[in-house]
Amino acid sequence: SPWLIENHTGTTWFAEDIRSRVYGLANSLSIRWDLKENDVACVYSPNHMGNFVPTPTRFILKQRGPEYPIAVWACHRLGVVVTPANPNFTVDELVYQLQATGARVLFTHPDSLSGAKAAAEIVGLDPAAIILFEDISSQDIPHGHPVVAQLVKAGLEQPTHYLEAKLRPGEGRTKLALLCFSSGTTGKPKAVALPHFAIISCILQLALAQNINGRNAEKGRYRSGDVAIGVLPFFHIYGMVANLHWAIFCGMSVVVHGKFDFEEMLKSIERYRINTLFLVPPHVVLLSKHSAVKRYDLSSVRSCSAGAAPISQELTAEFYRALPNSRLIQIYGMTETSTAISMQPPGDTPTPGSAGCLVPGMVAKIVKLDGTLSTHDEPGELWVKGPQVALRYLNNDKATKETFTDGWLRTGDEVIINKKGELFVVDRIKEILKVRGFQVAPAELEGHLLNHPYVADCAVVGIPNDFSGEVPMAFVTLSEEAKKLADSGNEQVDHIKATIEKHVSDTKIRYKWLEGGVEFMDTIPRNPSGKLLRRLLRDQAKERVHNREAKA
Ligand code: ATP
Ligand code: MG
Repeated sequence: SPWLIENHTGTTWFAEDIRSRVYGLANSLSIRWDLKENDVACVYSPNHMGNFVPTPTRFILKQRGPEYPIAVWACHRLGVVVTPANPNFTVDELVYQLQATGARVLFTHPDSLSGAKAAAEIVGLDPAAIILFEDISSQDIPHGHPVVAQLVKAGLEQPTHYLEAKLRPGEGRTKLALLCFSSGTTGKPKAVALPHFAIISCILQLALAQNINGRNAEKGRYRSGDVAIGVLPFFHIYGMVANLHWAIFCGMSVVVHGKFDFEEMLKSIERYRINTLFLVPPHVVLLSKHSAVKRYDLSSVRSCSAGAAPISQELTAEFYRALPNSRLIQIYGMTETSTAISMQPPGDTPTPGSAGCLVPGMVAKIVKLDGTLSTHDEPGELWVKGPQVALRYLNNDKATKETFTDGWLRTGDEVIINKKGELFVVDRIKEILKVRGFQVAPAELEGHLLNHPYVADCAVVGIPNDFSGEVPMAFVTLSEEAKKLADSGNEQVDHIKATIEKHVSDTKIRYKWLEGGVEFMDTIPRNPSGKLLRRLLRDQAKERVHNREAKA
């Protein structure tokens, strides 16, 4: 089966074609750019498979090739460390990543070229070190090429496959493969040092997780011959490992999309009979609620894996109403664990809302607020140990010391593990509010609000309060349904808002309620993997409360 499929043209690449392109580029990187083991290469591009020239009637493929994966694999072949950058980065952000990682070359797509050039100039990178995806294939030096033959003849080392030939036993534990950045949800993104050993372990752990628990489970399994959708950004660890490492290891084909477009994704699912989805929660929300879903044949979908942020019980139920023949697999993990810490085993019927069981080889303890260890069903911070855990943060001793402690990785997440071994993410510890001395997890209140048909998205943040210390307040965006009612004149917007206000004031989960009331906004700030950026909302919350008080 094909390895990679470009979604606009349907152009397919088979393993052999890609392999020869990877070897050709690796030769070229070694000979023309003098890249060596442990050098760093930055990839600054959307998931593009080529460059398209739009004409009035159709798209013409100007340059063909799955350039992003080829660049990454060619670097892996040479032992060159890859640092993928967000294509939406500003010049300053790219400069930060180039400086932090000491990248020697910069792969980029024509769309990102001007930003790449500006950043390269600031960090003093030679313009020749910018490698344009458009030019990659013309730079290939294939195996039979005289330059390569001469090198071999002269006894100089010929580039070899790093993983096949150079990685001696034990060495991969510390040899870096990727410098991926965390999402920057709680602060500035951190560069995470991931060795080959961690990435390979992560893939094997995912394979074991589904084989141990997945006997006879047809729906949730990943198999050779599956067709997956590649809409997650490759610069994030989840998109990188799912599409460029895990899918390929399993023998799946990946239909690659340059960037996420919901209808384009639905079209691809129908056209290529895609059965495996790697998504983040905002995509799951669309699949579960969007009216366009009914216009496409999605009957091929067997599994939908979603990670990076929580999925509520309510959303899970809606997903199954929309796609009853598939299986929703929650994955919980972090950049520091090469993706997965836990996943829902395909063979079991998981408790709704759970993020599955620890993947094999992962050891965990849960440390309560008072420092003692928790038993089942008691919340506390999750600490983990395992082969897929990163070595450290790059150039950040303080964060490394705080997070990588005595051989454990502190996740910073509050979780509960039940007696069945299922893990539930309560919230990030940094986000948990203290209301009159009680711990309140914003995520729990958000899950409840999302239940309401008028609520499309929401975020709960703490606002300072003299009496309680802080109190939870909600931001809400109106759903398609609410907007339709308003547009058709069947409902007044004020009435819709009043309905939501009532729902908010009725929201009481034991001692937790939304005392801070509700504010409406057009879009809730989230990063590309769907993580809520509550830190950006806190200032706005204070301002809105201030305005409310002024009005009163
Ligand atoms: P930063 O560390 O820079 O603040 P980040 O933690 O969001 O950003 P990532 O490594 O991309 O960066 O995300 C890992 C975090 O995402 C986890 O620690 C957890 O808080 C959250 N997360 C991931 N998967 C899930 C899930 N299935 N359910 C709930 N939360 C999740
Ligand atoms: Mg983090």
